[in-house]
Amino acid sequence: MRSEEPLLNYDELAEKNKRYVWHPFTQMKEYIEGDPVIIAGGDGRKLQDVRGNEYWDGVSSIWLNVHGHRVPEIDQAIRGQLEKIAHSTMLGMANVPAVLLAEKLIHLMPPGLAKVFYSDAGATAVEIAIKMAFQYWQHKGQPQKQRFITMKEAYHGDTIGAVSVGAIDIYRHTYSNLLFSPIHVPYPYIYRSPITGDDETQTAFFLDELEKTLQAHHHETAALIIEPVVQGASGIIVMPDGYLRGVRELCTKYNVLMIADEVATGFGRTGRLFACNHEEVTPDILTAGKGLTGGYLPVAITVATDEIYEAFLGDYEDQKTFFHGHSYTGNQLGCAAAIANLDLMEEKNLIHEVQQQSRYIASRLQEFSKLSHVGDIRQKGFMIGLELVVDRETKEPYEWTERVGVQVCTRAKELGMLIRPLGNVVVFMPPLASTKEELEAMLDILYQSIQEVTES
Ligand code: PMP
Repeated sequence: MRSEEPLLNYDELAEKNKRYVWHPFTQMKEYIEGDPVIIAGGDGRKLQDVRGNEYWDGVSSIWLNVHGHRVPEIDQAIRGQLEKIAHSTMLGMANVPAVLLAEKLIHLMPPGLAKVFYSDAGATAVEIAIKMAFQYWQHKGQPQKQRFITMKEAYHGDTIGAVSVGAIDIYRHTYSNLLFSPIHVPYPYIYRSPITGDDETQTAFFLDELEKTLQAHHHETAALIIEPVVQGASGIIVMPDGYLRGVRELCTKYNVLMIADEVATGFGRTGRLFACNHEEVTPDILTAGKGLTGGYLPVAITVATDEIYEAFLGDYEDQKTFFHGHSYTGNQLGCAAAIANLDLMEEKNLIHEVQQQSRYIASRLQEFSKLSHVGDIRQKGFMIGLELVVDRETKEPYEWTERVGVQVCTRAKELGMLIRPLGNVVVFMPPLASTKEELEAMLDILYQSIQEVTES
């Protein structure tokens, strides 16, 4: 924090936080009794709170930070744009950074993706993908194709459509009467797979399960939605090689659109620019957000092929328009930040760096298998999940009421790193530009926190 700034009174802010703010995914009864971290600043890979404590940003401010905080190039791009205009609508008109960003994105996307539709959150990007796929089949003369296939334990965001295609029960069951019902297929969660065998055997088994579902339902199915390569919110679950490509082939075979939700995996997080790049897959629709602006501003995208886009073209009277748009669609400040972020990623050869540092993380993660309650260690690039279990032999999970993941994260906070668990899975997702020394410090805290909590 810069010293010329007035000192902030923690107690006063905490009281106002308690009195006026309702926090996301938070049981407020418990939260207001606690001692909340109130962030006042950030620098590089660190966050600072109003009391002057510093913490590593160990989950990239919920999976989105790329270069760190207060990145001069992105700061400057936003200031530069601010000198011109902050926002004007995309309804019926265009704006300079939104056009230039779309061009840039299409050149970076898996080949075949051609048109960018902007919004402002991962959930809205998914909502748009669902409506696009649904409407596409109406224009193609197959209005009976209305259903969606989704993976068990999938997460796609918190709006009604996105929750509908989500499959994590705790986020869903309260609202079930509000939601449409997708068709579920098992996700290849190898650690708890119903069959034994190597990755090839697993891939074949799970693709076979999907094919059976497609055979039964393809005539009524608009699209399949999947988090490519890593299923995130279910616990950072990495799919075996060949599965994603197999899904693409089956979608094509059964004439079902494939939506790849890259909100979490996009923009370098898994060690390729997009997770789909690992298997040279082009989905029909790709959603992304989070890292697009480097973790600065809320811009999300739903990107479609020309085949989809062209199905919406027609005379005004045909009513083939895509009736969707948000107030802040194509926001100039956000698009300017995104351009600066992507330029910087290129300039710094960041994807290569992520691959290098991922190898370092992988080597360090081997040590974690010494901890007797670490059941499974999962990593793809800078997405890391450590599944904690009571008993490694039987893979018995901790009771959710024990909140072992929360306990680990509380200890990590005391040791100087902010992370957030997913149930019994401890998640580590550092900013992509973290250096080896920074990763070393963060992994030390991670190790110590897990050790102290699970072996005490
Ligand atoms: N899809 C996936 C795969 C996600 O991981 C998330 C958020 N973690 C979302 C969608 C929703 O994104 P947002 O929180 O920006 O709405």
